[in-house]
Amino acid sequence: LTILGIESSCDDTAAAVVRDCDVLASVVYGQTALHAEFGGVVPEIAARAHAEKLDHCIEEALAVAGVTFADLDAIAVTAGPGLIGGVLSGVMCAKGLSAATGLPLIGVNHLAGHALTPRLTDQLTYPYLMLLVSGGHCQFLIAAGHDSFQRIGGTIDDAPGEAFDKTARLLGLPQPGGPSVEKAAKTGDAQRFPLPRPLLNQPGCDMSFSGLKTAILRARDSVVAEKGGLTSQDQADLSASFQAAITDVLIEKSRRALDAYLALNPEKPAFAIAGGVAANTAVREGLMALCVELETDFVAPPLRLCTDNAAMIAYAGLERMQAGEQDDLTLSARPRWPLDKRAAPMLGSGK
Ligand code: ATP
Ligand code: FE
Repeated sequence: LTILGIESSCDDTAAAVVRDCDVLASVVYGQTALHAEFGGVVPEIAARAHAEKLDHCIEEALAVAGVTFADLDAIAVTAGPGLIGGVLSGVMCAKGLSAATGLPLIGVNHLAGHALTPRLTDQLTYPYLMLLVSGGHCQFLIAAGHDSFQRIGGTIDDAPGEAFDKTARLLGLPQPGGPSVEKAAKTGDAQRFPLPRPLLNQPGCDMSFSGLKTAILRARDSVVAEKGGLTSQDQADLSASFQAAITDVLIEKSRRALDAYLALNPEKPAFAIAGGVAANTAVREGLMALCVELETDFVAPPLRLCTDNAAMIAYAGLERMQAGEQDDLTLSARPRWPLDKRAAPMLGSGK
């Protein structure tokens, strides 16, 4: 099957063509520059930019893949969760293309796109344990099928990606915060600022990151009060201390989640990560070491498929199509859409 994927749920406009497990093209137009002066993603600006760029992005993906609409089997589009204006831009565009070409329309949950990425990149078979860690989410999921996810824990407040972004803002580093904090941390001393590891010693695999944000604010303010500003070494040390705190929590809680998962699935030890924060080297290496220790298969997709992209949307659409599912022109855009249908939407998040 050859599927066109379309993604526009946050601040990346993306289109991709996937044939079975081959990514023939994956084009991502970031909007970082558009939002830079506002210090965060402005939903109205994002929606307008998606609407303007989608056509061109799709044309480019088809050209890079060397296919035309006649070669496609379906059009898959992110139908949520995300910023509603952006999701609507994508859904309207996909509906128009489906109506014009007669190709089946498939609505995809953006989080399912992240959660199924290890199957696209490494053909990981079900079931597996997944840490989905991104700008708006952080959860442990047992993936048992393309539409069967059990949430066994996760953040009770902020997502780590959000915390990286906020930390970058506090330290005067550019957005998106993840890559810039990671870069600064390379030359930093992670021991200089003892930051909290919230819930680390509590049982279970729930996490909390909002206190860490406050702690980094206090640490920064104390340096500024003392010296009148931050040197690049201060930025590096604060970044390294912050990254170490996040990584420690993610690794310890992954150990708990894996224990719980392995008790249920002793014959299939497999752990995967995805989402933007899964692009972080310290997180990847820490989890890899944990899986070596626990003799568990570990899958970490390439960085460009961890952050938002449309190849994961095309692939999740492909799994829905293989299961005989598709949508029609009544497909609606959903701002909230938890993967585990039994779970309540996350508190305090717009997503
Ligand atoms: P969600 O998927 O939850 O709806 P999103 O789509 O906005 O949210 P992603 O694109 O999956 O999120 O991830 C973006 C987040 O990942 C941002 O918060 C960004 O700072 C973070 N991120 C990207 N690269 C890195 C990195 N190398 N280290 C840490 N964080 C990173
Ligand atoms: Fe995402």
